[in-house]
Parts: sequence; structure tokens; C-alpha cells
Amino acid sequence: MTAELLVIGAGLAGTEAAWQIASAGLSVRLVEMRPVRRSPAHHSAEFAELVCSNSFGALSADRAAGLLQEELRRLGSVVIRTADIHAVPAGGALAVDRGQYSAALTAMLEAHPLVSVERCEQLQLPEANQIAVLATGPLTSDALAADLRQFTGREDCHFFDAASPIVAGESIDLSRAFRASRYDKGDADYINCPMDREQFLAFREALLQAEQAELKDFDQASASFFEGCLPIEELARRGEDTMRYGPLKPIGLWDPRWGDVNDRDVRRANRAYAVVQLRQEDKGGRLWNLVGFQTNLKWGEQARVLRLIPGLENAEFVRFGVMHRNTFLESPQLLDATLQFRRRPTLLAAGQITGTEGYAAAVAGGWLAGTNAARLAMGQTPISLPPTTMAGALTHFIATAGCGESRSGKGRFQPMPPNFGLLPELAEPIRDKRRRYGAYRDRSLQDLEPFTLASCADTALQVA
Ligand SMILES: Cc1cc2nc3c(=O)[nH]c(=O)nc-3n(C[C@H](O)[C@H](O)[C@H](O)COP(=O)(O)OP(=O)(O)OC[C@H]3O[C@@H](n4cnc5c(N)ncnc54)[C@H](O)[C@@H]3O)c2cc1C
Repeated sequence: MTAELLVIGAGLAGTEAAWQIASAGLSVRLVEMRPVRRSPAHHSAEFAELVCSNSFGALSADRAAGLLQEELRRLGSVVIRTADIHAVPAGGALAVDRGQYSAALTAMLEAHPLVSVERCEQLQLPEANQIAVLATGPLTSDALAADLRQFTGREDCHFFDAASPIVAGESIDLSRAFRASRYDKGDADYINCPMDREQFLAFREALLQAEQAELKDFDQASASFFEGCLPIEELARRGEDTMRYGPLKPIGLWDPRWGDVNDRDVRRANRAYAVVQLRQEDKGGRLWNLVGFQTNLKWGEQARVLRLIPGLENAEFVRFGVMHRNTFLESPQLLDATLQFRRRPTLLAAGQITGTEGYAAAVAGGWLAGTNAARLAMGQTPISLPPTTMAGALTHFIATAGCGESRSGKGRFQPMPPNFGLLPELAEPIRDKRRRYGAYRDRSLQDLEPFTLASCADTALQVA
């Protein structure tokens, strides 16, 4: 093994990973291509740049993003600590002065005696004798992405991401929606939201009128490349019936509450004009994605328009649809929950390239990959975090998504932000949402205790 560890990419994940390695007393080379080579989204040459919003999300630990931040604080994350120092007033969110925050992190890493910073594009993955963390994010440069495709043997390292929104299962109104598979084939795997003609036309009109987000993509031509992955608003635009012959096809879907499906008159009188289907996203069936609803509408517009769908009037959106270029790994096939590649344990991956989504999630991946890279170098066993913690739930999700028996397995692996639907159920179910989220928080922080800075000194987890 080479003595110096390598981190590729000084984004949110790479910055955290390099810091954890150096904090463990090991030398690390941090390779960042900016400013030598520009990314289409980054604006500066600083580390851990926030490419869009300046917010890490809700601050309160009884919210999913807030819980993840609190876990990271307790784990000794340098990114979150620096964000706290440079926080600006933002209601209940952790938002930062992005310039000061990035400059501070860059200065800290550049000044660290164990960190050497190299400004160049990494064109290939390192050799197997190099312990390395790959943290090149959703905009991984083309050359490295090509090498990565060769290494993983997978063409489905996605290069254009069109993700459908995900809603919390408990927020779907099953007095209006129903569970069934088309033609009752197999299990009743889908939740179906039926529309009559009037509802469908009103919905289509709302889609047509809704405001689009700026397509924050950089080779817009690729949007037309994926004809099978068109935004729902584009399908609506193509004709009054296009959606009804596509994702909103009603044929073969019947709610037993409508009467006897074998009675022709009953069938004629009651069949739906269009049906929106939701497919299970997680093993526990608590997250549901809207099938074929990849969209480029503004998030506020998505909430407004999609709540016109019968059964989704009170839908809680765990993730909104997005369209942007996004390189991410088919992690369930490739990574363990330690973030090591199964076929090369000396190579770890972190951040959005692993299929987590959002700033704090990228930091969490960086913490774990950096910690495990250091542990490997010191001959210690890599760790995974408890799935009852938000950081652990995310890493377990990306390592196992789609492998459970309850998931239909028909959907592509899609990036996942922190959310409570990823956590295992509580031993005693709590109906009240505020109390339930509070219980998730308490369980998480308790289970995280052996891994926190305060405990590390006394445990085998100590890396320094
Ligand atoms: C346009 C856009 C907007 C977004 N907006 C938000 C938002 O508002 N809120 C949110 O929570 N999340 C947002 N995200 C998601 C966001 O990318 C992630 O949350 C986060 O930045 C990912 O962190 P990361 O460390 O994985 O990647 P990044 O932060 O992108 O860091 C990767 C780093 O690797 C470098 N790099 C790439 N290839 C190479 C190479 N070959 N050699 C050397 N260096 C390389 C890049 O220059 C970059 O510095 C957005 C993503 C995009 C693309």
C-alpha cells in the first residue's frame, strides 16, 4: 500500500473525507480539478462549494436534514462545524455565507500539514494498491467518468438524471387511491390514483401552465436523447391523450370498490379515464415515486400541480422531480454500506456520485469514506453506521436499494435525500408525527453515541 491516501474531488464529500483522514494522523493528497478545469455548475475554485442554494436544510433535529446535521456535528464533521460558524439567519434552516464558509474550509485544508492539495483533473482511477476516496460528485469530468464506467463494467452510470418526485406513503389518501397491479398480475405492487375526464383535463391544463425551472443542464441536447425519459409536462404538451397512452394509461387498473369488473355495464360506467401510478421506493413501503413523472417544473409548482391528483391532495413530498446532468453509480450493485467498492475494497466512494442527494448527505458520505479509508490504512476494520441513524440509513439504502423482496425491482436506482422514511419503524408505533419524529431523533442520537467524538476516545473506533 502507498503511504499517502488519495481523495479525488474537493467538493462537500471530498473535503470532509480528506479532513477525517488527516485528523486520523495520516497524509492525504486532495486532487481538485478546479480552477484548472471548470465544472458546469461550480463558480469558484474553493472547496466544498455550495453550487446552488446556500442552505443545508432544516436545522431542527426532529427534521430529517436537521437530524443528519446533528449526527455530523457529533461525529466531528469539519464541514458542518464550519457551516455553523458561518451561519446566516434563515428561519429554521442552516444557511451559510457561502463565500466565507468555503474560503474557511479551503484555508483549513491548505494549511493542514498532512494535506497536500493538487489542482489537476484526475483522468483515471488509481491503482488497487492506493487507498482512495472517489468524491467527484454529479459532474464528474468526462475522462474519469469513462474510466469509472470501464471499472464498474456498467453503462448505466447515469449521465442525465430525470428523477420523479417521491411522496411519503402515509400521506397518500387510500380512500381515493387503491392498490393494484395492471391486470392484477402478481402482487398489488402499485398505488393507483384514478382520474375522471374532467379531473384529467384540469390536471393537464395545470401542467401546461406551470412554471418550469431553468434547465440547469449543460448539454441540453441530451434532454432529447432520452426519449423514454421525457418530462411529464413535455408529454402533456405533445397532445391531449399522450399521457393517457403513456404513464397515465388507465387500462387494466380496477378498484374493487367500483363494482364487479366482469360486469360490462359496471366497467363502462366506472372505469377511470386516466390513472397515475406510484411505485414503492424503499423496502418498507414508506416512500412512493410517481411513475413516469420526471419533471422540470419548479418545486413549488410541482407541489401545487401534483396535489391536484386524486389521492395526493395532502401528499408530503420527500423529494421533488429534478432534471440535470448527474453521474451516479449503480451503488446497490457496487458498494457496501462501508462505502467500499465490493470488487476493490481499497477504493471508496462518497457524496452524490454514490446516489445520495443533498449537501448534508454528501458530507455524511465523506465522513464515512474518510474514516474508513483511514481505518483501512491503519489495519482496522471499516465501519458502517447504524441504520437507525440518518447517515447510516442513507448508506444502507444506497448499498441495498432494490435488493429487498418487497420492492418491485422494476425502477431504476435513483438518488435519495435524507428522509424519515428510510429509518426502520419504531418498536412502538407513534401516530402523532411530531412525537414520532422526536422519537426517531432520540433513537438515532442514542445509537450514534459509540461513534461520536466524545465516545471515540474509549472505543475501538478511535482512528486518531
Ligand atoms: C446544478 C446543481 C444544483 C444543485 N443544487 C443543490 C441544492 O440547492 N441543495 C442541495 O442540497 N444539493 C444540490 N445539488 C446536489 C449537490 O451536487 C450535492 O448535494 C453536493 O454538491 C454533492 O457533493 P459532492 O461532494 O458529492 O460533489 P461536488 O460538491 O460536486 O464536488 C465534486 C468535486 O469534484 C471535482 N471533480 C470532478 N471531477 C474531477 C476530476 N476528474 N478530477 C478532480 N476533481 C474532479 C469537482 O470540481 C468538484 O469540486 C445540486 C447539484 C447540481 C448539479
